[in-house]
Amino acid sequence: MSDIAENLENIRGRIRSAAKRVGRDPHDIKLIAVTKTIEPFRIKEAISCGVTICGENRIQEAKEKIGEIGHSVRWHLIGHLQRNKVKYIFDLFDLIHSVDTLPLAREINKDAQKRKKIMEVLIQTNLSGEESKHGVDAKNTLDLIKEISLLKNISIQGLMTITPFSENPEDSRIYYRQLRDMKEEIKREGIEGVIMKEISMGMSGDFEVAIEEGATLIRVGTAIFGERPN
Ligand SMILES: *Cc1c(COP(=O)(O)O)cnc(C)c1O
Repeated sequence: MSDIAENLENIRGRIRSAAKRVGRDPHDIKLIAVTKTIEPFRIKEAISCGVTICGENRIQEAKEKIGEIGHSVRWHLIGHLQRNKVKYIFDLFDLIHSVDTLPLAREINKDAQKRKKIMEVLIQTNLSGEESKHGVDAKNTLDLIKEISLLKNISIQGLMTITPFSENPEDSRIYYRQLRDMKEEIKREGIEGVIMKEISMGMSGDFEVAIEEGATLIRVGTAIFGERPN
């Protein structure tokens, strides 16, 4: 068995165990293979091993790879999106994880309207308050969601967060719990057009903690493909 096949099998086992520990159905957890910097032939190998969603964080890189690999899988944008790049997302991505300002949302909405499309998005929240991280502050998230919900060609599907780097996966737990609580609170608001079914959280180092805390989308790169070149 190849490394990628073996890694995927191992990760799927860990997803099942983590789900079981907290009484969740493992089918409710979708694995996103984070393919940034990974060569297309290795991505294709992962796809042949059952990967159905790939995550990229740069438009230009995604454009080249999706041109070669195509849409037999779903592609998610997990990295920061600049307003001047919005026009490219419609032919590339099924879900944008990184909407964090109203001007960005308005730009997406405007382009979506032109194309007669609805773009599905997650709202990225910055729970740790680290300045280096994108995302709307926790305290402003609900207001932002209310405003974006008025834009007819955007569909909010849930929340996303990135935790501060740590060697210890348990350090992420408070943030993941907070995001899950936030999702439930926002859901209770019953804002028209806001679906709040997805929580994108958890990476190679801490996806089991994320699953225990309610993740529905986990973003895993290194654990599938090995260390990325810097
Ligand atoms: C790179 C990246 C990941 C994957 O990180 P790994 O530690 O390699 O699993 C997940 N989410 C985002 C937003 C990323 O940029």
